[in-house]
Amino acid sequence: MLKKILIANRGEIAVRVIRTCREMGIRTVAVYSEADRESMHVKLADESICIGPPEPSKSYLDIPRLMAAMEVSSAEGVHPGYGFLSENPKFAQIVEASGKVFIGPSAGTLELIGDKIKAKEVAKRVGIPLVPGSDGPVDFQRALEVAKEVKYPVVIKSAGGGGGRGIRVVYDEKELREKLPLAMQEAKSAFGDERVYVEKYIANPKHIEVQVLADRYGNVIALGERECSIQRRYQKLVEEAPSASISEEQRKYLEELAIAFCKEINYVGAGTVEFLMDQEGNFYFMEMNGRIQVEHPVTEMITGIDIVREQIKVASGEKLSIKKVEKRGYAIEFRINAEDPNTFLPSPGRVDRLFLPGGLGIRVDTHIYCGYRIPPFYDSLIAKLIVWGKSREEAIDRAKRALEEFIIEGEGLKTNIDFHKRLLSTREFKMAKHHVKFLEEMML
Ligand code: ADP
Ligand code: ADP
Ligand code: MG
Repeated sequence: MLKKILIANRGEIAVRVIRTCREMGIRTVAVYSEADRESMHVKLADESICIGPPEPSKSYLDIPRLMAAMEVSSAEGVHPGYGFLSENPKFAQIVEASGKVFIGPSAGTLELIGDKIKAKEVAKRVGIPLVPGSDGPVDFQRALEVAKEVKYPVVIKSAGGGGGRGIRVVYDEKELREKLPLAMQEAKSAFGDERVYVEKYIANPKHIEVQVLADRYGNVIALGERECSIQRRYQKLVEEAPSASISEEQRKYLEELAIAFCKEINYVGAGTVEFLMDQEGNFYFMEMNGRIQVEHPVTEMITGIDIVREQIKVASGEKLSIKKVEKRGYAIEFRINAEDPNTFLPSPGRVDRLFLPGGLGIRVDTHIYCGYRIPPFYDSLIAKLIVWGKSREEAIDRAKRALEEFIIEGEGLKTNIDFHKRLLSTREFKMAKHHVKFLEEMML
């Protein structure tokens, strides 16, 4: 087992990883930028190293600085969290080459699943239904042909996209002609890869994803699904497990597909296979994410399995010891962002008054504390509220209560807590009739 781990991340996920390491008796090394000196992850870790100025490119994304920090601290492994370098094959490869452990899949696997076009080819090989669209990357002519074949509207997606970026909906040929060159240009500048592909636009789908764990010995298990249909700009805002909209049969089917995908590519680590479900209940493969996800706690709440612990164990070469996954109740996660509720623009500031909700079935993952100044340089996620209930109704009632208790106030600081309360009062969410476009409709 690894004895010392460096966490190449910040914020709530760095805190989350440190907590598990503590429980496992593993020493932790935090890295931080000059803007994060006062961050909770720095205080909680056994050691900490400043790796550079606030800009991510000169700190959390700077591979030489991270490697130097690993060397100086004699960390044996690195946990990359989510975002930043978590899915960067080059980083994984350099860590591997230096004889240290990257807590995640191999560089080769990250390369493969990070390419959405290649991932779709794998899915096709193992018989997972794909959204009708192009086989591989498209040029101008091919994009027009495919769109005509599958019928408008279609989406243009970047092979290297992620985090909700690189997706464009197109309603007719004129729009496709306009947007395709822009999409390619943008893909090139944002992801360093201009390849784009075309998919049929599925109307009002649900986002359903399966959490998997795999070891080096070919064992793969699924921990059930999460539904992440409350989204804004293709990014998740509220997630739940299990999905209230699929049957036990559909659950088994999705888990089997996810496991088949992982076996085909000899996947190792924790990962998520994402699907879209259309209004007729058909499922389509979307992509695979090879990292811990923001929404992993909802799965932990209903299974009692610490996913970070399992990540560390399989990365250390242990065999998966979980034989049967037992699930209990319902869990919902609310992403609390420091943002203006009207414009959705980031709204960081100093936390002057803070009260975190508690009581039965409540978990709050956060790095903020009273007096903490939220730096403006990073993602606006400042806390995650996760609630558990015996039934979905109970979880919703508990969530309302917890959101009412929740206080985060301070100079210049705004959050989306009220927005979540509004969501919970909608009939659609209560009835689980929401889909990925619901939020936008609700805002109108
Ligand atoms: P999850 O699937 O874990 O819910 P999100 O889509 O919310 O993931 O992304 C998690 C974090 O990673 C966010 O901070 C997001 O901005 C970032 N992220 C994910 N993929 C990319 C990418 N390709 N480029 C930049 N940031 C990304
Ligand atoms: P990312 O890598 O940014 O997470 P995904 O391919 O996982 O991108 O898609 C993110 C979201 O975009 C989905 O959850 C869904 O809301 C929307 N989306 C993606 N593909 C389609 C599609 N073919 N039709 C409709 N919506 C889609
Ligand atoms: Mg995705």
